Amino acid sequence: MAAVAAEADAGRDFIRDIIAADLQSKRNTGVVTRFPPEPNGYLHIGHAKSISLNFGVAEEFGGRCHLRFDDTNPTKEEQEYIDAIEADVRWLGYDWGQHLHYASDYFEQLYEWAEDLIRAKLAYVDDQSPEEMRLARGTLTEPGRDSPFRDRSVDENLDLFRRMRAGEFPNGARVLRARIDMASGNINLRDPVLYRILHAEHPRTGKTWSIYPSYDFAHGQSDAIEHITHSICTLEFEDHRPLYEWFLDKLPVPSKPRQYEFARLNLTYTVLSKRVLTELVRGGHVSGWDDPRMPTLAGLRRRGVPPAAIRDFVKRIGVAKANSVVDVGMLEFSIREVLNKTASRRMAVLRPLKVVIENYPEGQVEELEAVNHPDDPTAGTRRISFARELFIEQEDFMENPPKKFFRLSPGNEVRLRYAYFIKCHDVVKNAAGEIVELRCTYDPATRGGNAPDGRKVKATLHWVAANSAVQAEVRVYNQLFAKPAPDVANFAADLNPNSLEVLSDARLEPSIAETNSSEPMQFERQGYFARDPGSKPGRLVFNRTVGLRDTFAKEVGKS
Ligand code: ATP
Ligand code: MG
Repeated sequence: MAAVAAEADAGRDFIRDIIAADLQSKRNTGVVTRFPPEPNGYLHIGHAKSISLNFGVAEEFGGRCHLRFDDTNPTKEEQEYIDAIEADVRWLGYDWGQHLHYASDYFEQLYEWAEDLIRAKLAYVDDQSPEEMRLARGTLTEPGRDSPFRDRSVDENLDLFRRMRAGEFPNGARVLRARIDMASGNINLRDPVLYRILHAEHPRTGKTWSIYPSYDFAHGQSDAIEHITHSICTLEFEDHRPLYEWFLDKLPVPSKPRQYEFARLNLTYTVLSKRVLTELVRGGHVSGWDDPRMPTLAGLRRRGVPPAAIRDFVKRIGVAKANSVVDVGMLEFSIREVLNKTASRRMAVLRPLKVVIENYPEGQVEELEAVNHPDDPTAGTRRISFARELFIEQEDFMENPPKKFFRLSPGNEVRLRYAYFIKCHDVVKNAAGEIVELRCTYDPATRGGNAPDGRKVKATLHWVAANSAVQAEVRVYNQLFAKPAPDVANFAADLNPNSLEVLSDARLEPSIAETNSSEPMQFERQGYFARDPGSKPGRLVFNRTVGLRDTFAKEVGKS
């Protein structure tokens, strides 16, 4: 085991240190972790941190990781979410093998354990209203008050609890509570609720149950049933740990997992609260859970983000015990790192401006060679066609340029990538005074992009041939929120009004349209773009995965 532990040294953190020590001291003979999502929403980048940690340590220490749905609240949970969560975990690159579990698989066992607690006088049925219970709970500085129902007999408690299960009482009429200590300094130990009445249909158990266990009562015992060794969760559960341990101590559970807490991921310009993400979807602020502006794994995937970039990102940020906020620029950095290595280069003009090369013969088309990846010769080359009429990017031309503008302007020579040097002579405008066309000439001696006389140009522009280029819609995404720390209580006020820019008349080099791949490509000088799943021939749609440089601060600043 020591050898296995040593191998994990690379990405060391306090969780891995604990596990390595537990194996070394033989406290554990193997490692079993779990990722326990509640199926009440889609997974987001924060969950990716937890997934990578749980599946990652299991892999590194030769153990296993379970996927367990914490499906104890049927009013909020749906099959759609279960399916999406499975797909997202697989997409991230992790496999739970045979170990797909549901807390609902343990409902019968949990129920029996609740009766055990009643028999041991460690649980009671409370008839107080939710409001009365809340008032009697006390505060951080004041102890709570005992419920008038706290000393019911075992028989009465058993009878009432069984009738709760049988569906005799309406929602909220009674609860089963642990009988611990209403004066505890830890509010979680002030007789927490174990079961509540809920006449609701469950996605998996249907109408079998009219009572459902609380998160606290289900979670630790589910871990114990599955022989989880290290139950890793986020810091907000630190105060629940004494309760977690109380249950494991009082119940005849088959194993004793231990809980460890780490800091959740927070990202600038991003909200990772499932409640807010749900409201963004339901309120129509985004097009769905997979809107490419969403921090969900489905949204990131649709934007073209490769799973390797997400794994790289969570590895970079590490695992710590103190909460912090990570700059969203770090996620973008990881995306660029991966795509820079893997993405094919292509030319696409997002906002076209027509260029006519006056000295190029009408009707002539010539094939030029373009490289697919500048750092990877094995990616090969492709043919692109050059002709008299081309498109360049509107922003690459200025009629009256300032001093430092080196791109195309009247009289200034530039290089068209892989093609020729050109010069602009005339600017054609429409009645409104807008530039609609440039009249240029090319130098035939500069074929391939170099002048035999050694003269230099200061700019190289991307371009496409007007006749053969394919029209497409390109969606350029910016941060969904305009503020680095959006206010979750009033998130709508902090939305970035310019988070989506639709460019409906982009022109693509034909090879972009020919491939069926959803792998992102680099559109030279523009960024990385991936075909949208809704794209079809005749109506091509591309999403910008990420720009080439870190410009988001500027973009957000514009709004
Ligand atoms: P809620 O419980 O409010 O519905 P949640 O985001 O905690 O939302 P869960 O489905 O319970 O959702 O989360 C599953 C696991 O993912 C939990 O173990 C949780 O600690 C972890 N997790 C959730 N959000 C983050 C985050 N931002 N960073 C790291 N881990 C997270
Ligand atoms: Mg949770």
